[in-house]
Amino acid sequence: MNEDYGSLRLRMVERQIRARGVKDERVLEAMRKVPRHVFVPPDLADEAYEDHPLSIGKGQTISQPYMVALMTEALELKGDEKVLEVGTGSGYQTAILAELAREVYSIERIPQLAQEAERKLEEYTNVHIKVGNGTLGWPEEAPFDAIIVTAGAPKVPGPLKAQLADGGRLVIPVGSEFHQVLYRIRRRRDTFSEEALTSCVFVPLIGEEGW
Ligand code: SAM
Repeated sequence: MNEDYGSLRLRMVERQIRARGVKDERVLEAMRKVPRHVFVPPDLADEAYEDHPLSIGKGQTISQPYMVALMTEALELKGDEKVLEVGTGSGYQTAILAELAREVYSIERIPQLAQEAERKLEEYTNVHIKVGNGTLGWPEEAPFDAIIVTAGAPKVPGPLKAQLADGGRLVIPVGSEFHQVLYRIRRRRDTFSEEALTSCVFVPLIGEEGW
């Protein structure tokens, strides 16, 4: 059992994240702070800081650290935002968002994953988790300044665009079930502009408006 997770975390940020061009100091600081090994299954804790996704059970994954950093940076969080996350998974990305924004609303379709994440995120009073189909968003809490989807979608779900605030950013992988492009969509009034950020591979976004 490797006890020195703090050093592994610093090295992860320098070699995997900063070296690949992530510059937002607040994002780098959050990634240095949040104990990723707590969010992976206990038998994989020693792999938590490695440069790849890991299985979290139920056929799902915790994303590669670099992908978490890149997607978070793309949301352009300054600290006062209301954020929606679709796909809580392990809760690791949720914790990073909770360090960087005012309120985080996160939806997970698999009840056991949502419960486990909720337990691990207990100390964050700004995190709200619910079980459901995130492609429909969280209409009662809309609009959101930033929305992040951590599963691959066949198209951008209409309800998520509709729940984006004026000036808001939506970061989402869109493509086939096996390969996607990560997009940032920016809303200005009723105009949505798209930027392709990178290619990626995510587990599928399931349900109405998804696969
Ligand atoms: N952000 C997560 C983390 O840090 O561990 C990674 C999540 S994993 C790549 C994607 C998650 O999206 C899975 O837990 C999956 O069950 C969930 N998911 C897929 N379709 C969904 C949907 N329609 N609504 C909510 N969650 C969904």
